Amino acid sequence: MKPYELLLNENKQWAAGKVAQDPDYFKRLSQLQTPEFLWIGCSDSRVPANEITNTQPGEIFVHRNIANLVINTDVNLLSVLDFAVNHLKVKHIIVCGHYGCGGIKAAITNHDFKAVLNMWLRNIKDVYRLHRKELDDIKDMDLRCDRLVELNVQEQIFSLAKTSIVQRAWKNEQRPDLHGWVYGLKDGIIKPVYEMRAGTHIDSLYEYDDL
Ligand SMILES: [Zn+2]
Repeated sequence: MKPYELLLNENKQWAAGKVAQDPDYFKRLSQLQTPEFLWIGCSDSRVPANEITNTQPGEIFVHRNIANLVINTDVNLLSVLDFAVNHLKVKHIIVCGHYGCGGIKAAITNHDFKAVLNMWLRNIKDVYRLHRKELDDIKDMDLRCDRLVELNVQEQIFSLAKTSIVQRAWKNEQRPDLHGWVYGLKDGIIKPVYEMRAGTHIDSLYEYDDL
């Protein structure tokens, strides 16, 4: 059996197991999607949102990209954000990075990763520049990377708060709260590193006053 055929095989067994436990499982799920959470995480295969939070399908709306970035020209991310906030009415948005992130490690090298990856990683270099003093003072490279992972999550929370999508929901419905988390590959534990409650004031330059 080819490796991808194994996946299909496992899928059949998984589906049968679910139905055996709960005959209406798929019927119920197919009729309704009301997740309370939007998860913006890293594409890294070792950080699956549902598994590490012990949640079920239907509980978390998920978007993943390399190094969990919130780029304000990324139509993919903004579509997910718009849908989650305005249609699913999520109460919480979680940006979850992880220690040992390959995207973060790559961004602090001087290696040319060629056009597209260079473009993406540039956003992480910009986060580094904003916190250069603190990061340069950390001599141990692993610790410096870990700190950049945390600061990167914090910057992505700021980036979410700067969108009119989030600001409008804050103004009209006092939601969603924004949570910055970092997952540890070595111990499986999620560490909250930054939080922004709905309605928090940010740099006035970024606040819309005619929403
Ligand atoms: Zn990663």
